[in-house]
Amino acid sequence: MTATPHATVLPLVFDAPRRERPPRHLADLDPAGRRAAVAELGERPFRADQLSRHYFGRLEDDVERMTDVPAEARQRLAATLLPPLLKVVRHVDCDAGATRKTLWRGADGTLVESVLMRYPGRVTVCVSSQAGCGMACPFCATGQGGLTRNLSTAEIVEQVVAGARSLARGEIAGGPARVSNVVFMGMGEPLANYRRVLAAVRRLTDPTPDGLGLSQRSLTVSTVGLVPAIHRLAEERLAVTLAVSLHAPDDELRDTLVPVNTRWKVAEVLDAAWEYTAATGRRLSIEYAMIRDVNDQPWRADLLAQKLRGRLVHVNLIPLNPTPGSRWDASTPAAQDEFVRRLVDHGVATTVRDTRGREIAGACGQLVAVEGGPGEA
Ligand code: SAH
Repeated sequence: MTATPHATVLPLVFDAPRRERPPRHLADLDPAGRRAAVAELGERPFRADQLSRHYFGRLEDDVERMTDVPAEARQRLAATLLPPLLKVVRHVDCDAGATRKTLWRGADGTLVESVLMRYPGRVTVCVSSQAGCGMACPFCATGQGGLTRNLSTAEIVEQVVAGARSLARGEIAGGPARVSNVVFMGMGEPLANYRRVLAAVRRLTDPTPDGLGLSQRSLTVSTVGLVPAIHRLAEERLAVTLAVSLHAPDDELRDTLVPVNTRWKVAEVLDAAWEYTAATGRRLSIEYAMIRDVNDQPWRADLLAQKLRGRLVHVNLIPLNPTPGSRWDASTPAAQDEFVRRLVDHGVATTVRDTRGREIAGACGQLVAVEGGPGEA
C-alpha cells in the first residue's frame, strides 16, 4: 500500500466554502429564541410554543392543519419559522422496507442523505451533519468528494423529524413506530460543525414540545478524533455516546487511513476519549473498519487490545463496505474472527456491526448524495 500524504487536508476541516445560508427555522432556535422571533412579527409569544407543539409534538407538516393558530397569522408565522428546508429527492428501500435511505435537497440545491433502520424494538436514524466531508479518509466515499458546507441545526433535526413523521404515519414497513436512536454517522464530521450539532442534540433531546424528547443516551456522536472538540464535548456533561473512528491502533497506519491523525495522534485521541468517559460515565465506542491485509493483522488486534483493555469501551468492527474506485476489500471471515477472538481474549467487549443498506449504497462510508448515484439505478 502506498501512503498518500494529506497535508493539504487540514485547512478544509474548518473552512467550509461559503454558500447561501439555509433559511432560519424554529428548530435552529431555543424556546426563548422562538418566542423572540414570533414577537418580532408582532405576534403573541405563546404562538411559538404552539408551532413547536405542531412541529416536534405532532410532527405536523401542513400549516393549514395548525388550526389553533388564527388563519390570518398562520402563513406569516410559517414563512418565518417553518420554511421548507429539505425536500425529498427520493427514498430507496431495502431489507423489505426496514431500511430506507433518503436523498434530500436543501433550499440552495445542496444534496445530503440520511438512513432510517428499523430493528425489532428499535428504530435508528443515521443523520448527516455536513454536506460532504473534509476529512478525506481514503476508504470512505463521502470523504472523496470533499466538503460542500455545514448543515444548519434545523437541517440536521429535520432529517430525524421527517423520519419520525414517516414512522408515525405507518409509511415504514412494520406499522406505526417512533424513532428510538439517532446516530451522527451520516455524511460529514459532526465535531467540525460543533455548534450546530450541539444545538441539534439539544433539540432532539429537549422534552416535547420544546424538542423531540429523545433520551440523550440514545444519541451517538461519531468523530474521526478532533481532540479539542472532544474535550469541549466532555465539558457539556451530556449523556450522549461518543464513537471514535479509530481504524488503526498505530499512528503509522492511522496517518494514512484517517488523515486528521497527522494532527492528533492515537494516544491524544484516546486520552480525550477517556476524559469523555470519565466526565459522562458513558462507554466509549470504537469503530474499526476491517480492511483486508491493511489493518486486520493479529498483531494489530493485540496492539488495539493493549490500548483499550481495562477501559470503559466497546469495539464495533465494521466489515469494509465497497466504495467506487476503492482498491481495498473487506477482511476475510477468518481474519475477522481471529481479530474478534484476540480482542475478546484480552477482555475487550467487541461486536461486529450488522451493516445495513449496502445494496442501496446506504451503508457506512457509502453516502455520496448524488442524483442517480450508486445503488439507485
Ligand atoms: N466523520 C465521522 C462520522 C461518520 S461515521 C466519523 O468518521 O466518525 C461513519 C463511519 O463509517 C466512520 O466510522 C467511518 O470511518 C466508517 N466508514 C467510512 N467508510 C467506510 C467503509 N467503506 N466501510 C466501512 N466503514 C466505513
